[in-house]
Amino acid sequence: MLLDQYSILVAIGFSGASLGLTLFMMWAVARSHAHLLIWSIGLIFIVAGVIFFGWIIERYSDAYLFWSFIFLTIGFGLLYSGSAKFCSGRANLTLALLICAAGSIALSVSFGFGYSGVGTIIGNVIIGVLLALTGYQYWAARIESPILMNVNAALFLLAAVSFFACAYVLIAQGQYILHARPSNWAEDLNSIVVIVGLTGIGTLSLTLHQARIANRHKVNAMTDALTGLMNRRVLFEVWPDVVPPSTAVVLLDLDHFKTINDRFGHDAGDQVLRRFSQLILDNVRSTDIVVRLGGEEFCIVLSNASLELATAVANRIRLQMETTVMRIGSRSVHVTVSVGLAYSEESEVVQTLMSRADAALYEAKSSGRNRVKIDHLSFVA
Ligand code: GH3
Ligand code: MG
Ligand code: MG
Repeated sequence: MLLDQYSILVAIGFSGASLGLTLFMMWAVARSHAHLLIWSIGLIFIVAGVIFFGWIIERYSDAYLFWSFIFLTIGFGLLYSGSAKFCSGRANLTLALLICAAGSIALSVSFGFGYSGVGTIIGNVIIGVLLALTGYQYWAARIESPILMNVNAALFLLAAVSFFACAYVLIAQGQYILHARPSNWAEDLNSIVVIVGLTGIGTLSLTLHQARIANRHKVNAMTDALTGLMNRRVLFEVWPDVVPPSTAVVLLDLDHFKTINDRFGHDAGDQVLRRFSQLILDNVRSTDIVVRLGGEEFCIVLSNASLELATAVANRIRLQMETTVMRIGSRSVHVTVSVGLAYSEESEVVQTLMSRADAALYEAKSSGRNRVKIDHLSFVA
C-alpha cells in the first residue's frame, strides 16, 4: 500500500475531527438546525473509535478493539439519526438507539467470552447496516437535489459494503478469535473508502445544507408575509416574458378597502385580506398561480384555460365576496371586489396581458365596482 494503516487512521481521525468541529460551529450560529449538532456529536464518537483502533496497531488489545467498536457504533448511529433528521425531518432516534443497544449487547457478549473475531464481525455488520440505512435516507429524499443526494447515498452504500467486506473476510477465514489487528484486503479497502467517503460525504452534506438554506431564503423572498401567497416578485423572476396561448390573467381589487381600515381598524383589514386570499385559493385549480400584487390587489394566472373557465372563476369569486359577511371579532364586515380579466388565445408578452387586465379592472371600477370586466381585445383576437 502507498500509505501504511497507521497514517491512514491518523488522516481519518484528523479529517473527522475537523469536520465535526466545522459542523458544531455551524450549529452554534444556527441552533435550529439540530442535524448539525447530531452529526458533530456522532463524529466525536467516530474519532474516539478511530483513536482506539489506532492504538491496537502498535499493541493488540481485545479491550481497545471492543471500545473502538462501541464508539464507532454510537457514532454511526448518530450519523444515521442526524441524516434522517436532515432528510425527513424526523431523527428516528428509537431505531438508532435500538440498533446501537442491540449491537452493544452483542459486542459485549462476544468480546466478554473472548470471541474477539466474532465481535469484530458483529461490529462491522452493525456499522454497515447503519451506513446502508443512512444512504437509504438520502436516496429516499433525492427529489430535493437529485445529483447530490444520490451521490451521497452511493458513498454511504459504498462505505457500508466495505464494512460488510471486512466481516465477510473474517468469516471466510474462520477468524473467530483475534490475536492481532485484522489485516487483509478488505481492511485496506475499508480504510481507503472511509477516507474518501468522509471527505466526500462531509463536503456534500455541507453543500446540501447550504443549498437548502439558500432555497428557503429564495422562497421567503417570493412569499407575501401576510397571506402566504406568492408576491409580485414571482411575476418578474419566475414567469416567462411571453406567456403561452390559452392564458388568462385575472386582476382583483377590493372595493373601498380604505374605508374597512378606517371603520374597523388595520387588524380587521388584515384579516379581510387573509380571508379573501383563502377564498381565491378555494376557487382556483392547483396549477393556477395566485399572487398578492400589493395592498388589496391580487392576480390569478390561469394556464391552459378557456375564456369560459377564466370568466367562471372570476364571476364565482366576485359573487362569493358579495354574498359573504365576514365575522371579525364581534363585527360583521362586508366587502366586494372588482375584477378585470384579460385572455390570450395566442402567445403574448406578459406586460401587454397585464395591461389589458388592468384596463378591464379600471373599467370595472369606473362603471360602479363589484363587477367583472373582460378585456374586449380578447374577443377580437
Ligand atoms: P377602490 O375601490 O378604488 O379600490 O378603493 P380602495 O379604498 O380599495 O383603494 P385605495 O387604493 O384608495 O386604498 C387601498 C387601501 O388598502 C389603502 C391601504 O390602507 C390599504 N392597505 C394596503 N395594504 C394593506 C395591508 O396590508 N393591510 C391593511 N389592513 N390595509 C392595507
Ligand atoms: Mg381597492
Ligand atoms: Mg387598489
